[in-house]
Amino acid sequence: MNIKINSNFKNIKETYLFSEISQRVKRYSEANPGKDIIRLGIGDVTLPLPSVVTSAMKIAAGEMGEQKTFRGYPPESGYPFLKSAVQSHYQRYGVSLDISEIFISDGAKSDLGNLVDILGSNKVIIPDPVYPVYVDSNLMNGNKITLIAGNKENGFLPMPDQITGDAAEPAVIYICSPNNPTGAAYNSEQLAKWVEYALGTGSLIIYDSAYEAFITQDDLPHSIYEIKGAYECAVEVCSFSKFAGFTGVRCGWMIVPQKLTADDGTSLNKMWLRRQSTKFNGVSYPVQAAAEAALTPEGMKQCLSNIEYYRRNAALIGEVLDSKGIFYTGGRNSPYIWLECPDKMGSWEFFDMLLNKAQIVGTPGEGFGEAGEGYFRITSFGTYENTVRACDRLREIL
Ligand SMILES: *Cc1c(COP(=O)(O)O)cnc(C)c1O
Repeated sequence: MNIKINSNFKNIKETYLFSEISQRVKRYSEANPGKDIIRLGIGDVTLPLPSVVTSAMKIAAGEMGEQKTFRGYPPESGYPFLKSAVQSHYQRYGVSLDISEIFISDGAKSDLGNLVDILGSNKVIIPDPVYPVYVDSNLMNGNKITLIAGNKENGFLPMPDQITGDAAEPAVIYICSPNNPTGAAYNSEQLAKWVEYALGTGSLIIYDSAYEAFITQDDLPHSIYEIKGAYECAVEVCSFSKFAGFTGVRCGWMIVPQKLTADDGTSLNKMWLRRQSTKFNGVSYPVQAAAEAALTPEGMKQCLSNIEYYRRNAALIGEVLDSKGIFYTGGRNSPYIWLECPDKMGSWEFFDMLLNKAQIVGTPGEGFGEAGEGYFRITSFGTYENTVRACDRLREIL
């Protein structure tokens, strides 16, 4: 063919983290057949869906098979019943939203990746280390990225005073709190500094709250809209994946406040609606019915009980690291433990050591950005039994 491609794709790193991990694991298990490998690497849940969720899904599937209750295309931005449920969910934190500000989607990754469609060429500020989708989707659009480092000194919570260059320049700022991979979460005071910076410079904050339900500390906000002024400078992306086990079901939402306007006065809410109704045909009815069930009082109870299960795993891993004097963040308000590799080992060096000596697979911190070098992520999303076995092995080799 003689067609041209989007050459921005050439700027994206070839080796994808999880494919490199699976190659190394494959090589190891081929060389060491029969070895019992415990996988605590990938950020996927393991518990099955709560029963209220699957019941709602089954009922909805049945309705789709009856003439009287069959439904065709859903509204692009979601069924009113689910938007109302999300609206009530936010009221628990004292956050009021208009129904028109809520957009239901097939997940947070899609929303985060698609959001660049409606934004022009801006200064883009992304924390490092972080969920790789922010960097890659901006690179695909040809945007220049400024990274701000999280490290031991700032508790893996980069702040606006780290921003270099023209301090008054408006920017698109990504914030992930609680953070994947570090598990670090901003408190209200710290988030207020970000909102203040955004309002002062005319910047947009893209707030990823995928792990909001894992927060245990009372002083940590669950939504950026708990911070005064955030309606004028932030969109928020959230997901049913980690909170309700929807990684294989696919549902999330994005909040785009009516008050958000670009430099020429354009409403971001209108633009996002236009973008979604052009390129997206909505989330299936059984999935939205299942998502609504997750937000009912009984649904929340079941989802939080699953989160409690993962939290117990995180506590077990934390205990081992504490007993060995290894520095780590996360675990408390997040399903991830982010540890400093012992003996100044590099991330991949520690990965190989854990695989070879303990047959445990984790995720090298470097895969989430340069600032992650020398760190390592272990997930609490494994089964309790596997976590216990992994902890026994860690106690022996660390
Ligand atoms: C898992 C994850 C997502 C993806 O959520 P989906 O709804 O499954 O697409 C988004 N953001 C972060 C930080 C995540 O870790």
